[in-house]
Amino acid sequence: MSDATTVITTSEEQTRALGAFLGTQVRPGDVILLHGDLGAGKTTLTQGMLQTLGVGESVNSPTFILVAEHAGRLPSGDEILIRHADLYRITGEEQLDSFGYFDLIDDPEGLLIVEWPERAGAHLPGRFILVTLEFAGENTRRIILDDRSGRDQPIHLPS
Ligand code: ADP
Ligand code: MG
Repeated sequence: MSDATTVITTSEEQTRALGAFLGTQVRPGDVILLHGDLGAGKTTLTQGMLQTLGVGESVNSPTFILVAEHAGRLPSGDEILIRHADLYRITGEEQLDSFGYFDLIDDPEGLLIVEWPERAGAHLPGRFILVTLEFAGENTRRIILDDRSGRDQPIHLPS
């Protein structure tokens, strides 16, 4: 089942707040794919999510290390291991295996956030939450969430 909602943000802070909301909705095993051009706000959205999940350290795109790991905590109090991957610099799908990508997309316990998921070609998990970020002006972004996670109550962005 697929279900998409859209919101417009007009500042970095609003996108971070949207990420903070998303952080309240995640569950173990979720894979969040962040699709959008450079500067669209993928990392900003991630920062908001990680803030909700109690990750204190500042978070940038893990562009040079591909995957950053953070120990987080769900609103329920349960601990969750969060992996934040940025596939921008991978040069071919054969590189995916070298950093354990196939294990990461198949971990029922953790949370995986992926920037530039299109670099993985067809190697996407069967279920995911797709967030597309589009430029709609210098400080304006159109953010579309398509929940293909299969949960009973799909995530809807607050309007
Ligand atoms: P990405 O990870 O997609 O490359 P970043 O989140 O690192 O993008 O950067 C987004 C940039 O766009 C930041 O410089 C931020 O200040 C700016 N920006 C302007 N308006 C917005 C907005 N509405 N939402 C998110 N970022 C915005
Ligand atoms: Mg980024």
